[in-house]
Amino acid sequence: MDIYKLIRKNILGLEPYSTARDEYGGQVGIFLDANESPFDNGFNRYPDPAQKSLKGKVAAIKGVPVENIFIGNGSDEAIDLCYRIFCEPRVNNAVAMAPTYGMYGVAAGINDVEFRQVLLNEDFSLDTGKLLSKCDAGTRLIFLCSPNNPSARALPNSQVEDILQKFEGIVVLDEAYIDFSSVPSMLPELDRYPNLIILQTFSKAWGAAGLRLGMAFASRQIIGYFSKVKYPYNVDVVSMRAADAALSADVAAKVRITLSERARVSDALSAIPGLFVYPSDANFLLVKVPDADVMYGKLLERGIIVRNRSNMPGCAGCLRVTIGTPAENDALLAAFAGILGSGGTVPEAEGLPAGFSRWAEVRRKTGETDVYVRICLDGGFESSSDTGLKFFDHMLDQIPRHSGVALKVKAAGDLDVDEHHTVEDVGIALGEAIGKALGDKRGIERYGFVLPMDDCEASVLMDLGGRIDFEWDVPFTREYLGDVPTEMFRHFFKSMCEAMKCNLHVKASGENNHHLAESVFKAFAKALRAAVRRDAWNYDVPSSKGTL
Ligand SMILES: *Cc1c(COP(=O)(O)O)cnc(C)c1O
Repeated sequence: MDIYKLIRKNILGLEPYSTARDEYGGQVGIFLDANESPFDNGFNRYPDPAQKSLKGKVAAIKGVPVENIFIGNGSDEAIDLCYRIFCEPRVNNAVAMAPTYGMYGVAAGINDVEFRQVLLNEDFSLDTGKLLSKCDAGTRLIFLCSPNNPSARALPNSQVEDILQKFEGIVVLDEAYIDFSSVPSMLPELDRYPNLIILQTFSKAWGAAGLRLGMAFASRQIIGYFSKVKYPYNVDVVSMRAADAALSADVAAKVRITLSERARVSDALSAIPGLFVYPSDANFLLVKVPDADVMYGKLLERGIIVRNRSNMPGCAGCLRVTIGTPAENDALLAAFAGILGSGGTVPEAEGLPAGFSRWAEVRRKTGETDVYVRICLDGGFESSSDTGLKFFDHMLDQIPRHSGVALKVKAAGDLDVDEHHTVEDVGIALGEAIGKALGDKRGIERYGFVLPMDDCEASVLMDLGGRIDFEWDVPFTREYLGDVPTEMFRHFFKSMCEAMKCNLHVKASGENNHHLAESVFKAFAKALRAAVRRDAWNYDVPSSKGTL
């Protein structure tokens, strides 16, 4: 492959800026060539434009000859140079995947070069054929980011090599996150591909984002053009000196911590219902949340700044979260749990007005279901039911509506098996939550409610005395209501009754099965309301076995 043909004509003919010190080459002497200040303060001299000392260290660490290394003001400089060297404005184009790192497109725009993108598959894998079909005779650059930002996923090296072999232009492989990846760097393959440019950076694993030091590795010929086109003093003396310290730090130890924290944070976030965490080969996680804008704002309120990536292609609902220190990650997890209400968080975290004490949360996780119930007897947050069963949600919605409590139910169950576990476990979690929220109100209190509804009449009696007794007399004549088998309603109330440790007697009659179910839930809600507001609503029932 003739790289020469890919270089812009003006760059081929460019006479680079040269300094007298390039010609001299020595270290000591009387430097009266550059109009610097002669008074030593540590940075009165221009830096070495060839960065020989720093490149020597990078060469040793990376196992790449100095001639194959470019060091720039961040890898962003290298990205810009790729356009300047290879792309004729308004003639050539560059191709990248989507979503990906934003600077490829920005640098294309600055250089007036058309930028084309190919949408990744839903799991953020790359379709090579689709990528190559976006290329034409004018395509000079393909940008591959691996592990990719923001998807966190690495491309298999075989796929990168496939593209290197098939594409007759320059492949820029951005390995900014390679230190965190299970896929090895392509650096050892550099010699085999004259059209490969690998970008790495000191900004991530190396802990030196503030120094602005990026690297490009490529053939001696390509690096020659980078050196020709870059600004002569693109890396300053202070950064180069600090880089020495950064390079001798124990990076591997820090990476190990980041990787174990990545696993911990990923597991913890995955355990919160409603969150999905994509697998990561980088030092960040892409997390799909129920409402990215709201979640972003709520994290911000707690002083936690993440990156909202929900407007990027293929990333709807996604936040990008960097792995921080263990303490920072704890704060992040507490914030997520507080916002989405997973086990043991304080109610203020959910935005409850001050002074609400009668509340409880229950998180119940089994092999079959993952149920979260949050209840506040005094209201205070918006109620919602999300169990995956539409009709069941509709019934559960009756409870907050007719009792005045605030109730949030979220369940992820094995509905592919059947409805049984989900309905049962919601009943148990709800019973536990009500029991907890009622707290010391639980005594010998008895509550009951009779409710006429259209053609139906339902009565629910509750005795919170602590003994368990369940009676059910609701004659459904249909097998299903919506997506819920009618037999499950008995099971739901029975599970709840046992978890609440109460007597619960439910009786209803009527023709319409929908009304029958709804009247039972409403009557239960009214009984609960009585239990909650006993001063105003207390009924004494003749006996726990009796009827009104
Ligand atoms: C962070 C990052 C870089 C690094 O840029 P610098 O200019 O070296 O700080 C490069 N590429 C990707 C994909 C990144 O996410």
